[in-house]
Amino acid sequence: MAEKMKGKGVIAGVAVGKIMLAGQNLDGYLKDYKPKKKAEEKKIAADALVAVAAKLVSTIEDLNKKDMKEQAAILEAHRMMVEDPAMSGAIDEQVDKSGSAPRAVLDAYESQAQVFEQMEDEYFRGRAVDMRDVGKRIAKYILGIKEPEIGEGKVIVAGQEIEPSVIAGLPSDKIAGVILGQGSTTSHAIIIAKTRAIPSIVGVGDAIEKIADGDPVIIDGETGEILIRPSDEERAAYDVKIKKQEELKAHYAQLRALPAVTSDGVKVVLACNIGSPADVDAAKDYGAEGVGLFRSEFVFMGKTDIPKEEDQFKEYKAAVEKCAGHLCVIRTMDIGGDKPLPYIQVGTEENPFLGYRAIRISLQRRDLFMPQLKAILRAGKFGKAGIMFPMVINVAEFKAAQAMVEEAKVELVHEGKEYGEVQLGIMVETPAAAVMTPVLAKYVDFFSIGTNDLVQYTLAVDRGNAQISYLYNHFNPAVLRLIKRTIESANKEGKWAGMCGEMASDPNAAILLMAMGIKELSMSAPSIPKVKERIRNISSAKAKEILDKVMEMEDGDEIKKYLATIG
Ligand code: PEP
Ligand code: MG
Repeated sequence: MAEKMKGKGVIAGVAVGKIMLAGQNLDGYLKDYKPKKKAEEKKIAADALVAVAAKLVSTIEDLNKKDMKEQAAILEAHRMMVEDPAMSGAIDEQVDKSGSAPRAVLDAYESQAQVFEQMEDEYFRGRAVDMRDVGKRIAKYILGIKEPEIGEGKVIVAGQEIEPSVIAGLPSDKIAGVILGQGSTTSHAIIIAKTRAIPSIVGVGDAIEKIADGDPVIIDGETGEILIRPSDEERAAYDVKIKKQEELKAHYAQLRALPAVTSDGVKVVLACNIGSPADVDAAKDYGAEGVGLFRSEFVFMGKTDIPKEEDQFKEYKAAVEKCAGHLCVIRTMDIGGDKPLPYIQVGTEENPFLGYRAIRISLQRRDLFMPQLKAILRAGKFGKAGIMFPMVINVAEFKAAQAMVEEAKVELVHEGKEYGEVQLGIMVETPAAAVMTPVLAKYVDFFSIGTNDLVQYTLAVDRGNAQISYLYNHFNPAVLRLIKRTIESANKEGKWAGMCGEMASDPNAAILLMAMGIKELSMSAPSIPKVKERIRNISSAKAKEILDKVMEMEDGDEIKKYLATIG
């Protein structure tokens, strides 16, 4: 019988492989290490910083060549942590205390990690892992520890906290799954796993220490179940599940080229959410028809300075071209809140989600906004592009952003650079915008409903707080009314409304949205087939009937339950 443990399944799918322990314990190596004089240890640490930074630069170049931009961006952030001048001072101080270069490196990065860990924001807390990752990387270099080798077959990477660089550095066809002792859905390791649809489980806790390197294991990313050293019978039981999964995959593959159209001919565009142009390639395998949300902040992350217009242009052009005639909606950077950037000083805020972020920064920082707008406009020459502004709360913000787009065009003409006509739209992710959609619809080309934030702001429920997650329900009648209003406002003015928040990937929600008149649903690509199937298996008349019934209900949980019965 296998040893069993359970965590929280965060990326669905059953995976089988051999455990590859990451985030290994360095205690034994540290004990064996023979430190020299303190001055020499300081030099050893300083040399290690230079060597590790150089190695990172070459890995980043390789990843960029392979168009693995998200992974490259994460390692770029790590390189900055290695080269941070404050860290070399902190390491020297630690050498004075412990006398050992590797110990000093680990302690210096650990104390920085603890600063991050104290932060309220989940995103910042997640960065503590990156700090420890960097410290370990440098210490391993000093200790002469090689990275684990992958042999034959697929691995399931496991660790208390898995360094994002481990996942970023492994080829996709080698990783079958991920298990984290700690971790959350926003930890970088999971962000990378999600774009590659790698079954993943987090929150296993200290039980993870029972897993040994090379152990055969089965994980179920839906239920969170982990079977270590499964017996033949257990393996056979899961083989049935894996077979079903393969069959479902094959079934979904058949849907790939088919449109998301109801039995009576109502069509909805199913697009994908991306963080880099390379994601479009993976999304095509799931039948994505263009991009409904390119989170451009990924282009800004992991850099030491604002990316140049030319560099941004290359990224946007690549995404637009890969969409091959479908629309590619590029959201201007949504920085601030849970997504800070080292080179944009936001300052300490009591309420970062209600603070200096997104369009508010863009409208005040011409030096940031202009190069981005020009880069997107230029990319528009190579296909169909849209510019979308995040966190808009009123007409004035949209008009100001629109005026900046016009200015950007004038600058491009003066510079002799060509640009294409692009659609201009807004994210409807604040209740204020949703309420004002009848007016906003007169000005914009499109709306895209960002339910991740719209739900949190409408219900005053933090989107990342597990303690109150039972209140975070996109079927709450207040949310549904705002969504319906937004879609109807767009249709009345002959504009289109789509959705790019997580709600778009809920097949039951898709039925309601389609009945409300939505034209596009954008989601992480692996969710597309199940939404498509749901739409293809219903008539618009039936969906309307369901919607009417739902809109009469008074409670979000009641709606959720009702929709679960009709699936
Ligand atoms: C949203 O808020 O729904 C959204 C899609 O944007 P993000 O998740 O990046 O805030
Ligand atoms: Mg948002």
